Amino acid sequence: MDDQFKKLTSHCKEYGFIFQSSEVYDGLAAVYDYGPYGVELKNNLKAYWWRAMTQAHDNIVGIDSAIFMHPKTWKASGHVDAFNDPMVDNKDSRKRYRADQLIEGYMEGLENKIQKEVTKAARRFGDTFDPEMFLATNARVLGYQEEHGRVRERLAKAMTNGDLEALGEMITDLGIACPVSGSRNWTEVRQFNLMFSTQLGNIAGEEGKLYLRPETAQGIFVNFLNVQNTTRQKLPFGIAQIGKAFRNEIVARQFIFRMREFEQMEMQFFVQPGTELDWYAYWKEARMKWHNALGFPTEKYRYHDHDNLAHYANAAVDIEFEFPFGFRELEGIHSRTDFDLSAHQELSGRKIQYFDPESNTSYVPYVVETSIGLDRLFLAVMSHCLQEETVPDSKGKDATRTVLKLPPALAPVKCAVLPLVKNKPELTEKARSIFNSLKFAFPCQYDEKDAIGRRYRRQDAIGTPFCVTVDFETLTDGQVTVRERDSLAQKRVAIEAVEHMVSSQTDLKSMLTG
Ligand code: ATP
Repeated sequence: MDDQFKKLTSHCKEYGFIFQSSEVYDGLAAVYDYGPYGVELKNNLKAYWWRAMTQAHDNIVGIDSAIFMHPKTWKASGHVDAFNDPMVDNKDSRKRYRADQLIEGYMEGLENKIQKEVTKAARRFGDTFDPEMFLATNARVLGYQEEHGRVRERLAKAMTNGDLEALGEMITDLGIACPVSGSRNWTEVRQFNLMFSTQLGNIAGEEGKLYLRPETAQGIFVNFLNVQNTTRQKLPFGIAQIGKAFRNEIVARQFIFRMREFEQMEMQFFVQPGTELDWYAYWKEARMKWHNALGFPTEKYRYHDHDNLAHYANAAVDIEFEFPFGFRELEGIHSRTDFDLSAHQELSGRKIQYFDPESNTSYVPYVVETSIGLDRLFLAVMSHCLQEETVPDSKGKDATRTVLKLPPALAPVKCAVLPLVKNKPELTEKARSIFNSLKFAFPCQYDEKDAIGRRYRRQDAIGTPFCVTVDFETLTDGQVTVRERDSLAQKRVAIEAVEHMVSSQTDLKSMLTG
């Protein structure tokens, strides 16, 4: 898996998807820049989400609020007092960890042990193997499961109560060692606030302290009335937003999975109090459907109910994706109650309520949130779509090709136009004119460098679904050869038919309408 992940990160760099930030200065940890193909893919992912939210629902509208907000926002939301992670240092390696993640790593170790037992038994019993029966009866597996349950319960309790001492005790009791030094020489567990702060130029001291927003949601909450008044939406309705968020993560690893500057796509759905758990169930299912419409295997996704609910939530679930390093959170769906709006109402002294014309009463709406990290989605898509396969080369021999099997609607370049050879002006001119006629319909690329086979491989590596080749026959029959990325099928198509063929097969609409 490590190997696969390394290939993925170097592919992202080599083909201009993602670069380390400030690389000339040896980079800035957990901050990344998106390159020419990366930005196109990212924009397509945004469009897929935005259109699924705002265009597909006439009761969801968008906003784009500022990154800076009045500092009281973060007091009301609870971030100043409670947006902390438990931090622990190993005294020998001087490496810093999140205490809860060390314990989760221990639990993952138990899961791996169970998996190993299953694999071993499957080999031993062959066709007669019944995995369910084995999991329910094997003494060793039952022991691991029991321990897993105990640890999980203890962790949830310690996290819910913010009990740092209990977390420290768990690390000691479970004998967790530092992966770098191998020692169990730990500091006590401390709280660490994840918000970055900066200072307004014209106000000195605490008064002028600003935070870089750690989530986009609060920009939606403080605009609830503005949006409701101007759009005259009735409950239930939603507000969607895509934007940057910043978190001073203690441990930032795994490439763009955990960054200090990242992008979120959040939607807050405002509902009548008492109906929130029905809407929560609705969005839990709707969001999974949206993921599945990407066409990846459904086994790559799973729900994970939160063991310890955030201070504002009465139900919460993660949609996890199987990244190369295991199942991890990709999206969160949270029933946030009326916590945020009520807190802003109280601290600001302004009434933030909805007048319900049906019941003739005013109340603070409840909220169901869907929150997905755009960069994590990018990583999920890249890690599933980047594949190596054996295909016949021009002489019919086996060759390995690296191909990025992106859903066509997400591909940075939809179609490449290639003259068969470079130094024949009649071919290059024809190819250029086809390219010019297509480039406003969808992102297109013209390429004449290197042999045609190498150009195909380059397009495969960036996920281009169609290559259009202009050869000598084109000049007489007005047709081009269209090569399809995944099947490698080649067919002759009239030049005038190319635009419709590519447009219709690379349009987001088919994903949006399922
Ligand atoms: P985690 O448990 O992984 O730290 P979280 O539960 O704190 O995540 P939320 O606050 O629910 O995350 O944020 C919503 C979404 O934002 C997450 O599902 C994830 O996709 C994304 N996200 C959160 N933190 C980061 C980060 N540091 N880098 C990239 N994406 C992030």
